[in-house]
Amino acid sequence: MFLKRLDVVGFKSFAERISVEFVPGVTAVVGPNGSGKSNITDSIRWVLGEQSARSLRGAKMEDIIFAGSDSRKPLNFAEVTLTLDNEDQSLPLDYNEVSVTRRVYRSGDSEYLINKQNCRLKDIVDLFMDSGLGREAFSIISQGRVEEILNSKPEERRTIFEEAAGVLKYKSRKKKAESK
Ligand code: ATP
Ligand code: MG
Repeated sequence: MFLKRLDVVGFKSFAERISVEFVPGVTAVVGPNGSGKSNITDSIRWVLGEQSARSLRGAKMEDIIFAGSDSRKPLNFAEVTLTLDNEDQSLPLDYNEVSVTRRVYRSGDSEYLINKQNCRLKDIVDLFMDSGLGREAFSIISQGRVEEILNSKPEERRTIFEEAAGVLKYKSRKKKAESK
């Protein structure tokens, strides 16, 4: 599984629709301070199901919608689509390409789609659970997170290893079964 493309419109500083193609190898995003580099990783975490506005560096979820600039009016919604190559079937879906989309309106309404079909947030979170790319996964390490991991309690740190080892899915199913 690898990232193929990221399409963003209305998310934070991206008023214009942008499309990033990821080619094989390492992709580096460079630019001056405040130019939107971190907003790109924020958009990936958001489409994967991030629910905490604070962790997206805002106060409320509406803060992720383009707020306007000197030359542009604010937008009414934000939309992010992440397209992944799934030829190795590491995501449990019978498609060679999987796209996930999240949209949020100022009214607070949200939409989630997998391969352009409406779904629930939970479906997206479940899809990526144990894939190594979930919203809590080890594959996205933000500024400050390294220190947080080093300073965390052993039990908290264990969760990170469990996600990496792919056992979190079974734990969560066990918990669900026990609560029935
Ligand atoms: P640094 O090098 O300092 O880490 P960066 O390239 O990572 O910078 P970001 O943090 O991604 O920069 O982008 C910050 C910019 O995004 C700021 O200019 C901020 O005004 C803008 N921004 C954030 N949220 C919104 C929003 N809702 N609407 C418009 N602009 C926004
Ligand atoms: Mg940054």
